[in-house]
Formats: sequence, C-alpha cells, structure tokens
Amino acid sequence: MTANIDTICALASAVGKGGVSVVRVSGAKAHTYAGAIAGALPVAGQYRFCSFRESNAQLIDQGLVLSFTAPHSFTGEDVVEFHCHGSPVVVDQLLHTLTTLGARLARPGEFSERAFLNDKLDLTQAEAIADLIDSSTITSARHALRSLQGEFSKRINELVKQVIELRVYIEASIDFVDEEIDFLQEGKIEARLLAILATLTLVLQQAQQGSLLREGLRVVIAGEPNAGKSTLLNALSGQDLAIVTPIPGTTRDILRQEIQIDGIPIHLTDTAGLRHSDDLVEQEGIRRAKAAIGNADRILLVVDAQQQASLYSSALWQELLELAPTRISVIVNKIDLVAATPSQQQLENTPHLFVSAQTGIGLNLLKQHLKDCAGFNPANDGGFTARRRHLNALAVANTHLHAALFQLQINKAGELVAQELREVQQALDEITGRFTTDDLLGAIFSSFCIGK
Ligand code: GDP
Repeated sequence: MTANIDTICALASAVGKGGVSVVRVSGAKAHTYAGAIAGALPVAGQYRFCSFRESNAQLIDQGLVLSFTAPHSFTGEDVVEFHCHGSPVVVDQLLHTLTTLGARLARPGEFSERAFLNDKLDLTQAEAIADLIDSSTITSARHALRSLQGEFSKRINELVKQVIELRVYIEASIDFVDEEIDFLQEGKIEARLLAILATLTLVLQQAQQGSLLREGLRVVIAGEPNAGKSTLLNALSGQDLAIVTPIPGTTRDILRQEIQIDGIPIHLTDTAGLRHSDDLVEQEGIRRAKAAIGNADRILLVVDAQQQASLYSSALWQELLELAPTRISVIVNKIDLVAATPSQQQLENTPHLFVSAQTGIGLNLLKQHLKDCAGFNPANDGGFTARRRHLNALAVANTHLHAALFQLQINKAGELVAQELREVQQALDEITGRFTTDDLLGAIFSSFCIGK
C-alpha cells in the first residue's frame, strides 16, 4: 500500500467546458481535504449533494461528492470525486483549494500508477485503460476492454504457470536424478516445452492482431503527378480532402487521413509526386514524401494504366525499389480508360491491383489487399489490445523457449534449459508487471494523460 505518500488531485474528465467536470482526489488525506471543501462527506460508496467552498468559506460551486475508502477505490487509496459544473474556472478553484490544503497536482497517469502499485490492476490492464480511451474504432475499443477485464493477463499468467511448473520439475530432477541424461531424454520435458511454445505462438498471433488494431497500418500513396493519388485518397476516405486537378504537381505537401477498414485503423498519407523539381516548395514536399515512405508499412505506388509499360524503367520505380523493395503494391489506376477489368496480379515480383479511383471499380480488392498486408485474420477475433512493448516481450520469451529446446535436444544440458526458462518467465512477467523496473513504469505511465 502507498499510505504515506502524497495526496494527489487532478481533473479526471476532459479539459474544457461541459455539463459536468470531475475532480478526483486520492491519498491518505483525501477525505480530510475534501471534507474541508464540501463539509460532511457521504459514507463510502455513496454520493451527496453539497456546496463546495474555498478555505475562506467563499462558495465555489454546488455539486455531487462521491466518497470511497481504501482499498475499495480505483487507486486502492481513499478517494473523493467532486462532480462540479463543467467550467474550467470552477475546476481551477477546486484544484487551487485542494493544493492550498496540502494536496499535490497529479502527474500524468499517476492515478493508474497507484492502482497498479496497490494491486488493483496489473500493467496490461492499466495500459488497456489508456488504449480504451485512445481507441479510434469500435473493434479496438472492444479489444481494449477485453484486456482491461484481464483477458490478456490471464493468457500470460497461464503461460507463466506452465513455465514455473516445468522449471520446478527440471530443477528438482537435476538435484535428485543420478542419470541426468536419461531424465532429459525421457521425452516429458520436450513435450511440455513444445506445448508451451504452441501456446506462446497463439498468444503472439493474437497480440499482433491486437497491436495492429491499436496502432493501425501506415500506408503511403506515392506516384507520378497526375497518376490519380489524390483521387485514390479521396475515394478511400470518402471525403474531398486533396485538391484534384488535371495539372501535374498540384499536391505539394503531405496530406494525411485516417480511415478504417473492418475496424483496422489505416493512416493514409498522400505524398507529393517524387519527380525532380527546382521549385523549393516542391523539393521540400519530395523530402517529406521520402521520409513517409521510409516509415510506411505499405506503399501504394499509383500509376496511370495508360503508362504502366513505362513504369518499370522510370526513376521513381528504381528509387522505390531501393527505399522499400518488399513493401510496394502497384495500383494500376484509370482502368476505365483502357477498358480493363479489376483484378490483382503478381507482376515484377510485386502485387498489382487494377482499379479506377474515379469510378470506384476494384477498390474492394484494394481494401482486401490492405487487410491482407496488415496480417488481419477475422478468425482471430475475441482478441485483446496489445502494444509494441508486449510484442517485444513475447518475442524475447519465444527466443528463450527455442534456446531451451536447443539446450535440451542438442546439448542435453538440464541446467541450461532451466536457465532459459527463467528468462522466458522474466520476459512474460514484464508484460503483466510482475517483474518491472522503475524506468519501465515511468515510461508507461508518463505517456498517459493527466487525471487518468
Ligand atoms: P495526383 O496528381 O496523382 O494526385 O492525381 P489526381 O488525383 O489529381 O488526378 C489527376 C487526374 O486524373 C484528375 O483529372 C482525375 O480526375 C483523373 N483521374 C484520377 N483517377 C482516375 C480514374 O480512375 N479514371 C479516370 N478516367 N480519371 C482519373
């Protein structure tokens, strides 16, 4: 418990004007400070309509006060919430009065951090709160909620349990069995290692999907001026965002747009054409386009169907092959002008999609292609939200599991198998926060917003 640390306060609802704002206070002195503002507090778990007053008895506002007693609160500490009118001035006065009384303004994520430190949530659940708030699609919100309810942690904890059981078995046997080789070769350990590996692979797949739904796919639309990039961006996003004109070189800056396909957030970037130019503004556009291409998960290289033949000898094609050889999809656009049918073909070792951005034909193929590129698997639904940090930890666990198998099958070294399993366990424990460092906690919670 964190009984002796500061009592903290912050606006817990969104910043700005609204019907109601919520100011949250948490810590050992929460009831004392809140009592000084609102008079008698309601009993724990209940609310009361009160007048809120400054220390000099000046009225600030009237509203509801909710009271919670440790450990039965979000943070696990004594907590009071003021539900005042949604005025930034009222909120300021409440926070000012609380700090005058002795409370401290909370750092970003500090309420969630205390909930974690007081065992109210594990780390993946605390992260899931931030992910739920940040989610941009219904699917990603549902995944975050599943993680918040403990779905992801449960899968990790089951894995950890299997790893611990196997470690105990191996370590005990090493101590007591005379013939270590026989014991290692009897096949039981190998079977259990393979079972853990199979479960880990499944969790990793689901986590990858969760991470994709959280972070989305970064897609750059590139191509010669007038190929139809802006038209494609507009067609995919369903909005008239980019200026479409028949004069080459119109799109001088980078345009970004978020769309979603079946719940996957797609971050679309329309770049300036990559042609060489003496125009300074256009040169800057080209520089930014190259940076965007470097960071993209997929590059849609748009080409006018009437000029497809000359694409492969163009400087742009060569340049893109150098920048991102495996991430290019060629969008052969304006097929309405050459009377071609929409299709997907593998040409020049690169997927080609034949579409017309203007008439819309073939765009469904393109959307499906983007989902395929993202590794989206609809059968994997029921998943949870996951972050890059989780994927990295799962990858580390996976590497050490393979190393454990190697030590068993090739080196027949029981001690080393046990050592690798310890590493597996540590990597998995980092996900739920059972094993953490202050640096890791600092990095995670500081990315939360204040009041969370
Ligand atoms: P960008 O310079 O690559 O962004 O190209 P734009 O999107 O501005 O399009 C250039 C011209 O091509 C415009 O006149 C568009 O209307 C036209 N265009 C774009 N897509 C198609 C298409 O699928 N079919 C036809 N016929 N014209 C298109």
